[in-house]
Amino acid sequence: MISEKMKPLMANNSAIRTMFEEGDQMRAKYGRENVFDFSLGNPDAPTPPEVKQAIKEIVEEEPDLILHGYMSNAGFEDVRETIARHINKTQGTNFSKKNILMTVGAASGLNVALKTILNPGEEVVIFTPYFLEYNWYVNNYDGVVVQAPTDKKTFQPDLKSFEKLVGDKTRVVLINSPHNPTGVVYSEETIKGIADILKKKQKELNRAIFIIADEPYRELAYDGVEVPYITKYYENTIVAYSYSKSLSLPGERIGYLVIPDELEESQLVFDTASNANRILGCVNAPSLQQKVIAKCVDAKVDLDYYDRNRKALYEGLKECGFECIMPQGAFYLFVKSPVEDEAEFCKTAKKYNILMVPGSAFAGPGYVRLAYCVSYETIQNSLPGFKKLAQEYGLR
Ligand code: PLP
Repeated sequence: MISEKMKPLMANNSAIRTMFEEGDQMRAKYGRENVFDFSLGNPDAPTPPEVKQAIKEIVEEEPDLILHGYMSNAGFEDVRETIARHINKTQGTNFSKKNILMTVGAASGLNVALKTILNPGEEVVIFTPYFLEYNWYVNNYDGVVVQAPTDKKTFQPDLKSFEKLVGDKTRVVLINSPHNPTGVVYSEETIKGIADILKKKQKELNRAIFIIADEPYRELAYDGVEVPYITKYYENTIVAYSYSKSLSLPGERIGYLVIPDELEESQLVFDTASNANRILGCVNAPSLQQKVIAKCVDAKVDLDYYDRNRKALYEGLKECGFECIMPQGAFYLFVKSPVEDEAEFCKTAKKYNILMVPGSAFAGPGYVRLAYCVSYETIQNSLPGFKKLAQEYGLR
């Protein structure tokens, strides 16, 4: 009864569902506080109070027809202008409302961008490991994912290999920084390196190659690390941003695309992307949330909430003898499995009520991902279990 395209996706979906269900069963059996579930990237830092206040005010103040009515597929003009000014202020760019297209979160923004620029059979280069939903997004438009390696120690892209993978079928390079699942922030050197290769390739191949920068974690960067704004390094860049993590609003589905003037045939790309927003069934981004963003454009979740967790979990795991790099952004730790088969490692961890995701779910076998967007107590209470787990593998 279901389409051929959906069949493999459903198989993957049932694996994720099984994990959820297992977590629920464990919580029912052992009690919520005794299960250490690091499997989900559901942001749990509280939504900033000004966001909650704005929702109340907007509902009271805005006329129904404006607040709840249809609008331009790109979103409210005043909201887009406010966001453009905010990016200009924080990133030193020069955008206006004509560069900002409101979307239903980053997932939808990525789909809109791919629908707009990708032809069937064209390639999308993605650095491993990566958020595996990208596979489905690319598949939606009959594109082909090409996996590019990263340095085994730093998870920064391996530029030599990357250069060899960019060819006459490459249409998009999809970059995600701060990164899910490693927590790495791509350095300016890396971004410049990617941009230089692509500029050279565009000339050689005489065709446009786009960077799509997936940036839902842009605001979650620690220790003052800079997250380079990619439009400043490469003209054919589309940025997909989301408020899911920066304001803890993932269920509200709100984000935007930046399509800069410098991008080739920018106006045509923008108009086509607005149309894609409609054709894909989003029509426009949620109107109430657009208004909320305009009122709260400077708001952010409390970064210290995640930073405290990051430090506690990283230090705790290192003390146990686990190997991982200190993440500079997002809210994930990518930990080396002490055995080759990381699924077996995840299975053993369940004995200590610890839930984590095998790296293979991110095209990163041999590692596991821990989402530390949990309470601080969960992290502290999980550490004795991690200690026993480490001992079981002879680490310390
Ligand atoms: N991209 C990455 C790397 C993500 O981790 C996620 C969500 O976890 C998304 C995109 C989707 O974000 P949104 O909720 O804004 O659609």
